[in-house]
Amino acid sequence: MSKVLLVDDSRFWRTILEDLLKKNGYEVLVAENALQGVEVALKEYPDIIITDYNMPGISGLQMCLYLRSVPAFKNAGIVILTGSDDIINEFWAFHSGANKFISKMLPKEQLEYELLRFIHGDYKTDSSLTHYASNIYDVLEQKMRTEILNREILSLIQFARDEFYVINNLKKFLENFSNFGALAFMLLSPVEGRVYNFGFHVQKESLKNGIISVMERPVEPSTWSFFGEYGDDSALEEFIFFVVKYDSSEICVIAFSRASDPRGAYNVFIEAEESLGLLFNTLNLFRELKVASSIDNLTGLFNKKEILKFLDETHNSLSEAVAEPIDDGKVYYVAMLDIDDFKRVNDTYGHLVGDEVLREIGRILRKSIGENTMVGRYGGEEFTIVFTNTDEREVISTIDNILDQVRKTQFPSGKCTISCGVASSKNYHSPTETLKAADKLLYLAKKSGKDKAVYEFLQSDELLSDENVS
Ligand code: GH3
Ligand code: MG
Ligand code: MG
Repeated sequence: MSKVLLVDDSRFWRTILEDLLKKNGYEVLVAENALQGVEVALKEYPDIIITDYNMPGISGLQMCLYLRSVPAFKNAGIVILTGSDDIINEFWAFHSGANKFISKMLPKEQLEYELLRFIHGDYKTDSSLTHYASNIYDVLEQKMRTEILNREILSLIQFARDEFYVINNLKKFLENFSNFGALAFMLLSPVEGRVYNFGFHVQKESLKNGIISVMERPVEPSTWSFFGEYGDDSALEEFIFFVVKYDSSEICVIAFSRASDPRGAYNVFIEAEESLGLLFNTLNLFRELKVASSIDNLTGLFNKKEILKFLDETHNSLSEAVAEPIDDGKVYYVAMLDIDDFKRVNDTYGHLVGDEVLREIGRILRKSIGENTMVGRYGGEEFTIVFTNTDEREVISTIDNILDQVRKTQFPSGKCTISCGVASSKNYHSPTETLKAADKLLYLAKKSGKDKAVYEFLQSDELLSDENVS
């Protein structure tokens, strides 16, 4: 049975309400003003608080606001009783944190009915959080702290496009409240899971799996990114975790260990729960936007914009080395690939089957390339691969392997082949020229029978002359 606290300066109302509650079997605590009410509440932790609005000194509304800021009372039931002259609008009612307003002017039976129905609701005080505060001054201090905490966290939202910056600053901010031997954030969205690790000396997968195991219904991101330093699993340790939810889905887990004040740190997370939810949700939205604008919807490969950006960046980072003798590591290779007779697939089997072929080829490309290699869909049925930090031999074996895999695959439309042209940046001044050269070589491959790759560095100069390729 719920414990009920009754706060009213009028003896008449105290008596009437106390009788009603006792008659219905509730344990009743009584206070004559708000200050006393807070004191009793913090000592006895009632599940339900019924308070008069208009009292000398602190009003019922203010008392409600204070108590609601104490975590123990987060799920307590608070009802404010208003008299005839009290004008409370919906706005203040909502923002005070009260669950309900009931007018004392209601007919007696209705007032009793409304009150009892309210008390019957599913309200509960969490008295395990009792260390929190013992008087109203503690509550005020705490409330100020919470407000500052939340304001600071929310202020990070303005930097949401730079997640790395936000997480680093959040970490610095949290260190004002406790030292952390190790602290990690795992953000989850369907497009990408991100793990930021500060100080856990474990492998990426161990940390990820450890954290996921504390979640109830984790979403399964299609890719994962890891930031920070990782170790081997020689120093596996216990961690304390805090799951941040937004709209009731788990969007982030904060894990920590070896904290100087674990309890204090945990309380910070509880106090800041809502702003953390908002912050992480905003980070997720930005991440999704970023991924959406760089990924081709059909194949999940990078899109043309991203290919060109990568080519530019690669070119710029390597162009400093141009004055030196060129070795293989200082050039990049561009491969253009195009599906053979793809129009016929569409014409015979329809566009949906055509799309499925594109997707399957995307999968083959993705799993055939190594590190330092990017693959994207340039457009239509054309794909681009950019090889960096490698040599001609590896480029040839990768491309030959791709052509072979496509040749061997049974597509929904039957067999399928692709052609490819590969150019080296060695001979060109810009990424655009290299790309164009690869395109010309692709044309050569098509013209000379399809289902083959033409490598610039394996051809005689004569073959590559403009007459042959234009
Ligand atoms: P070639 O061997 O010379 O490359 O002949 P091709 O038929 O593959 O080339 P062509 O350029 O004549 O036709 C390409 C076809 O690719 C035409 C277009 O309908 C199809 N296509 C382009 N983008 C998509 C897509 O997103 N989905 C589907 N299903 N088809 C696409
Ligand atoms: Mg084609
Ligand atoms: Mg084409």
